[in-house]
Amino acid sequence: MDLYLDYNATVPPHPEVREVMDAAARERWGNPQSVHAWGRRARAVVEDAREQVAALVGCAPRQVTFTSGATEANNTVLKGRALAEPDATILVGAGEHSSVRVPARYLRELGFDTAEIPVDGDGLVAPAALERALRQHAPVSLVSVMWANNETGTLQPIAELAAVCAEHGVPLHSDAVQAAGKVPVDWGAGVAALSLSAHKLGGPQGVGALVRDDEVLALDPLLHGGGHERDRRAGTENVAGIAGFGRAAELARRDREAHAAHTRALRNRLEARLSGGPAGAEAVSAGAERLPNTSCLLLPGVAAETLLMRLDLEGIAVSSGSACASGGLQPSAPLLAMGYDRAQAASAIRVSLGAATTADETERFAGRLEALAEQLRQRPA
Ligand code: PMP
Repeated sequence: MDLYLDYNATVPPHPEVREVMDAAARERWGNPQSVHAWGRRARAVVEDAREQVAALVGCAPRQVTFTSGATEANNTVLKGRALAEPDATILVGAGEHSSVRVPARYLRELGFDTAEIPVDGDGLVAPAALERALRQHAPVSLVSVMWANNETGTLQPIAELAAVCAEHGVPLHSDAVQAAGKVPVDWGAGVAALSLSAHKLGGPQGVGALVRDDEVLALDPLLHGGGHERDRRAGTENVAGIAGFGRAAELARRDREAHAAHTRALRNRLEARLSGGPAGAEAVSAGAERLPNTSCLLLPGVAAETLLMRLDLEGIAVSSGSACASGGLQPSAPLLAMGYDRAQAASAIRVSLGAATTADETERFAGRLEALAEQLRQRPA
């Protein structure tokens, strides 16, 4: 049974995305930096995509810098701020993705000041907790809090956090990778920078964007070289990938509400079945504001890694923790930060649904999960 329920890891590229990428690679293969017609044709592809990505989040196109993905965008923001204001502290949420937490740790090892803002039981950075951290660590050069958590789906109160940051004159960056295309992500919320990734929206892997307000956020580039992306990110642009990102952003904007309604209905039905039935699942943060497509399920007494392997043998894809952390035996950092213990975190699986997911698929998945959970509880790994 081929059943893909891991849309937060990556979304299959939309057919229209594949088409525009193919057309760009065939017909617009010039170097966008070249002044001749070939270059200008490729440049037009990049600039059209910049407008499409800007429209998704409601910013000006010139605020969008294309990158190799959100990992690069997050690294650019953190390292760029550390270099721009070496004596100030960078604050990051305790439940952030590894592409924020690991550069923060790396900077700390180099001697820069970075600290984590604690999260509550739902993984949220409370405005009061942010306020305390800002006072305790002043001067602060950057706060980074994700829009939506990739493992649990919880949505941070970004506009409220932005208001607190504004009172302290500190820029707020938000990793909006998992939120964009699933819930409204609005530049008007008061952020100074956003990270986006094409492959979480039905675009290609290896392309993303850093959206930023140059006036608020002075940043040294991560990559130096030619004058690409208005001196903000050197390196010849991935024209076909950027074309795909642009189309994916346009489709995500058009289809967001329909997809949200579709996945929310399936997700809620799945959680109701799995928490009421023999799986004995607990849906993490079910009462909090969450992404509509994401369910983080604790399965008491079940080793999630073993369950995942058994599901994989049957052709069913879900994930434990974030894809970047799986493969290792480290329990999910966000769940630990929320106060779950290691055993609970090691029993967590993430199910994430997409536009193509059907009720038949979620029902078949639930049936297999119930059977396997019972087996694994009898014969612990
Ligand atoms: N941030 C979050 C919240 C993510 O889920 C991911 C992808 N797992 C990333 C950043 C990294 O994005 P990319 O794959 O484009 O580097």
